[in-house]
Amino acid sequence: MSEGHQPHGKFATRCIHAGQAPDPTTGAIMTPVYMTSTFVQASPGVFKDGYDYARSKNPTRTALEANLAALEDAGPDGAGMVFSSGLAAMDCVLHQLRAGDHVVLSDDVYGGTFRQLDKVYRHLGLEVTRVDMTNLDLLRGAMKPATRLVWLETPSNPMLKVIDIAGVKRVVDGASPAPASGVRSSELGPLGTPIERPLLLVDNTFASPYLQNPLTLGADIVLHSCTKYIGGHSDLVAGALVTRSAALADRLKYVQNAVGAVPGAMDCFMMLRSTKTLHVRMQRHCDNAMTIAQWLEKHPKIQRVIYPGLASHPQHALASKQMRAFGGMISVVVKGGLAPSRQMLERVRLFSLAESLGGVESLIEHPAIMTHASIPAEARRVLGIDDGLVRLSVGIEDVNDLVADLEQSLR
Ligand SMILES: *Cc1c(COP(=O)(O)O)cnc(C)c1O
Repeated sequence: MSEGHQPHGKFATRCIHAGQAPDPTTGAIMTPVYMTSTFVQASPGVFKDGYDYARSKNPTRTALEANLAALEDAGPDGAGMVFSSGLAAMDCVLHQLRAGDHVVLSDDVYGGTFRQLDKVYRHLGLEVTRVDMTNLDLLRGAMKPATRLVWLETPSNPMLKVIDIAGVKRVVDGASPAPASGVRSSELGPLGTPIERPLLLVDNTFASPYLQNPLTLGADIVLHSCTKYIGGHSDLVAGALVTRSAALADRLKYVQNAVGAVPGAMDCFMMLRSTKTLHVRMQRHCDNAMTIAQWLEKHPKIQRVIYPGLASHPQHALASKQMRAFGGMISVVVKGGLAPSRQMLERVRLFSLAESLGGVESLIEHPAIMTHASIPAEARRVLGIDDGLVRLSVGIEDVNDLVADLEQSLR
């Protein structure tokens, strides 16, 4: 596998080719699934291209990592890294911090993201503040000298709030961090150098690299749950990080190998297959979602439609500027609350009642009862997660069939 296969061309071309040269042994056009745990050495310590053991490096994974780096515009010094889940990718980032460091989180982040910080890392000494980052003054007020990580999701889940990534970057750059704490030690490898200034991480799962590239807007790290749009077929669980900084990539790769939450070669192959159609899938997700959002907005049983592509969305102007299109996720408030929304969810036939999102098939769910049930009722109310709120992950089926299904479910 040639690592020198430089990504070039527009997004669609990179989807299909970046990171993937024909196999040097046979000319196979598709990247082989290297199902091997180890690699034979010519002499002790002499091996090819860094391939000594498959936790550290696997050629199928290398191709995928280069592909994702190209899709997120990681530039010549950057890198992609893949993990066994989105939350394992998150864990790799949090391992860069030290006890006493402070993390600022957008208020309605994915529940598992909050749980990892609140239940695992708080106990290990990280302090967390959640703020509504659609208001940059609130973010400015939340920054502390010990802040070393600002973490946001845009569009958010399930309220589809859109956060100004470049604006957040300006606030982060304007903060005055305290001198980094902790021991400097070359014995700790890349982790021996403390983080000097707050890093900005954008969870780009909902948008996918097709709709926005946060690294070009100043983010230090992009995170994906590849389980969603990158995998795109609801058949695997995986995560990714991408950065433009060689120094950050060194630190992240160090933990990726040292902690070892890496995906197997077959999952990497399936993701390579998926990213070849990412642009085509995403465009259809966006087109279908826009049609459905406009249709729902006129439906008499729907109180409110939340979709960044609608003029009624509070951050529609920002979304139009920051995103290439508006994604496949829609949230709606059904008039009358719990009972009518439950009825809608029980009556759908083409939409499947399930958690998760981003697959080719359409899914529907009830955040207050399903994905966001662990959030106390009062906190849900503050976030706007109404008992009548229903979240749609619009798939790429024929849009008329999808509309017909929603129509009969609301009848
Ligand atoms: C699903 C999801 C995650 C977690 O990813 P897993 O692959 O399930 O570990 C993180 N962020 C967002 C926005 C998600 O939707």
